[in-house]
Amino acid sequence: MAELDRKPDRAPVPAGWDYAPAPEARDVVSIQERYPLFIGGEWVEPRSGEWFATVDPASEEPLAEVAFAGPDDVDVAVQAARTALADGWSNRSPAERAKYLFRIARILQERSREFAVLESLDGGKPIKESRDVDLPLAAAHFFYYAGWADKLEYAFPNRSPRPVGVAGQIIPWNFPLLMLAWKVAPALAAGNTVILKPAETTPLSALLFCDVLRQAEVPPGVVNIVTGDGRTGAELVTHPGVDKIAFTGSTEVGKAIQRQLAGTGKRLTLELGGKAANIVFDDAALDQAVEGIVNGIYFNQGHVCCAGSRLFVQESVYDDVLRKLKRRMGTLRVGDPLDKNTDVGAINSRQQLDKITELVRAGEEEGADIYQPPCRLPEKGYWFVPTVFTNVAQSYRIAQEEIFGPVLSVLTFRTPDEAIEKANNTPYGLSAGVWTEKGSRILWMAQRLRAGVIWANTYNRFDPASPFGGYKESGFGREGGRHGLEPYLDFE
Ligand code: NDP
Repeated sequence: MAELDRKPDRAPVPAGWDYAPAPEARDVVSIQERYPLFIGGEWVEPRSGEWFATVDPASEEPLAEVAFAGPDDVDVAVQAARTALADGWSNRSPAERAKYLFRIARILQERSREFAVLESLDGGKPIKESRDVDLPLAAAHFFYYAGWADKLEYAFPNRSPRPVGVAGQIIPWNFPLLMLAWKVAPALAAGNTVILKPAETTPLSALLFCDVLRQAEVPPGVVNIVTGDGRTGAELVTHPGVDKIAFTGSTEVGKAIQRQLAGTGKRLTLELGGKAANIVFDDAALDQAVEGIVNGIYFNQGHVCCAGSRLFVQESVYDDVLRKLKRRMGTLRVGDPLDKNTDVGAINSRQQLDKITELVRAGEEEGADIYQPPCRLPEKGYWFVPTVFTNVAQSYRIAQEEIFGPVLSVLTFRTPDEAIEKANNTPYGLSAGVWTEKGSRILWMAQRLRAGVIWANTYNRFDPASPFGGYKESGFGREGGRHGLEPYLDFE
């Protein structure tokens, strides 16, 4: 509680503005002790006989045991998806398919609090993000693609679109339910059936989604969920019964998948890493830009493929921007993901915390200056203080590699040409941000930045109607919008 400064001649004035705890109720979601695999509309014990634990990264407490899908399990799931395809999912009237997608969207809205709490428990993200970003966007994706299901002929005129077949979908741990929605919604709208593999550290929201599938009476086998680790993903990639692979994750695994699928004729889309440039010109509204910088890198603990992890500031406003940024960082509240006031939650896993720690150490060793605001971290769980590096050379690892944590590298530039040159100096090309008052400069920059998504005077805005995807080592193929249907369709 804030202490009161009691001056005799004035009303009491709070001496500080500490927030009281505001925890979201955990009991809105009931977590099972064990989750088998979801295949053919049924809960199925794993043939592998293996299980693994998923833990709450904020407390390191185990939340549930989850089935590990081995090769035989993946095979059964693929058969179930093929049967559902042959049994007529793809031949159903498109309006009928849309009906299921609309139902899923509405159920997600109805059960959004339950899903948001589960997402924060299993993944460590602040409840205000899972509640206000992940869940509304996941529902919006299903609504959006429901609208396309009976309009494919109009979306692709004179091209006779038809489903590709069975899609294997592999998703990461940073936006578990949202990535599921990005993948499942367009696949079903286009008439495909699906086997989805969630990430090892965040399987629970995909498993709760199975309940939604049943509630929506989606026919058995249309969506199958196989939990496991990278080995399960690899089985799915190489299974001959799968017609298309959609992968979101690291560039390293994405490259391995591309090599494995070369020459097989299987369709592939890859949404991989990023090292986005967030570029602030001297005519930008600086307070607004600072909010965008903070949102760009500290949203979801920086576990965001399109995070604005390289900040480029025009030299004439460098001191102002850094002063404002450091002051703003001092107000970020790090802690319990289920507290509604929390801005930065827990790091997703021990492994990811180790990776962030290693790269931050490399930044210090290479000669960059580190700034971290005073911050008391919880004793248990995986945490990292929001961090800024200044005095960064382009060659440093922290300016080149994807850290995937709350760590910002700040560089400077003098002219727009120099900003472009430096921003494009990366193997990645997923996203970028431009902050300036001049519309013409925004367009000039957007034409030259090699990035799939460019935000102007904002950052991390997503909309199901807007295609998302990368250039270069950030992958290929687009998700979202009409473009997001194409990878799931064959044409005459
Ligand atoms: P991975 O690329 O390993 O994981 C992404 C998904 O692929 C997970 O479901 C994973 O399973 C699965 N997978 C792993 N290996 C294989 C394989 N050989 N074949 C098929 N599927 C596989 O990312 P990590 O979780 O290991 O994260 C490492 C780094 O990747 C992060 O530090 C970050 O830099 C980057 N990353 C980027 C993401 C993005 O959105 N661009 C998302 C996630 C990570 P499982 O997790 O169960 O092992």
